[in-house]
Amino acid sequence: MEQIFKNNVALVTGSSYGIGKATAIAFAQRGAKVVLSDWKEDIETVRIIHEMGGEAVFVLCDVSKEEDVKAMVQTAIRHFGRLDYAFNNAGVEGEPGAAPVCTNENWEKVIGINLTGAWYCMKYQIPEILKQGKGAIVNNASIAGLVGFQGMPAYVASKHGLVGLTKNVALDFAQQGLRVNVVCPGVIQTPMIDRFTGGNEEAIEQFKARKPMGRIGQPEEIAETVMFLCSDASSFITGQAIAVDGGWTVQ
Ligand code: NAP
Repeated sequence: MEQIFKNNVALVTGSSYGIGKATAIAFAQRGAKVVLSDWKEDIETVRIIHEMGGEAVFVLCDVSKEEDVKAMVQTAIRHFGRLDYAFNNAGVEGEPGAAPVCTNENWEKVIGINLTGAWYCMKYQIPEILKQGKGAIVNNASIAGLVGFQGMPAYVASKHGLVGLTKNVALDFAQQGLRVNVVCPGVIQTPMIDRFTGGNEEAIEQFKARKPMGRIGQPEEIAETVMFLCSDASSFITGQAIAVDGGWTVQ
């Protein structure tokens, strides 16, 4: 594979499973040194990247805690000396239930991780990326950042907020070599979807039926979009929310 990110450093949050794991591996396949992070210890993704002949370091980080995020970025710089790309992916779905039954605890947790967490990440990543004069950040929202989903008020609010935050940061740094975009995945085969459906075949079939393409997406299909948004192939794209959803949101 062409080493388009050789000598570059990429940071991925929530890298232990699903979309984050696939994206960390995709960065490594293209030559990037990868900073992996998650709120629980993970050696599996580091092992995979090392076996590929790549370089990776794992940092424990709960993105909803500012001190953790600051330390994560500091570790990246201490270890690899620079930061070029970040994929702010860590997220949780929270508990289902309409607004009146959404607990304060659920609201604060989901907003704290999905929205405030991404803001903390960008707050510490941006000054480091600007030092390189060129770089990109991709945030991970959801189609729930573009349209509503019944029974998920905190999740939908957090992801709509993340789409808005991305546009704002993109404008603030458009003339400084930093591009900032947000991917909006449809239903993707990851542990999050296994939890959401409880492995229930009927629920999975219902998701498939709502997709014009008639199938669930794979984490690698999101990873490929992130690679595009970090590469020079997307050099005139910033502030965009890119739906990768098998056509869900154009119906
Ligand atoms: P996943 O399989 O659950 O992976 C998410 C990863 O983030 C897990 O390793 C999780 O750890 C970690 N994480 C959760 N909270 C964290 C925190 N506070 N700090 C650091 N790491 C944390 O989920 P996924 O499906 O890959 O989702 C990744 C992102 O895509 C999320 O932002 C999600 O909202 C978004 N998304 C997913 C889908 C989908 O259909 N899968 C659709 C649209 C958007 P634990 O597993 O240990 O909690």
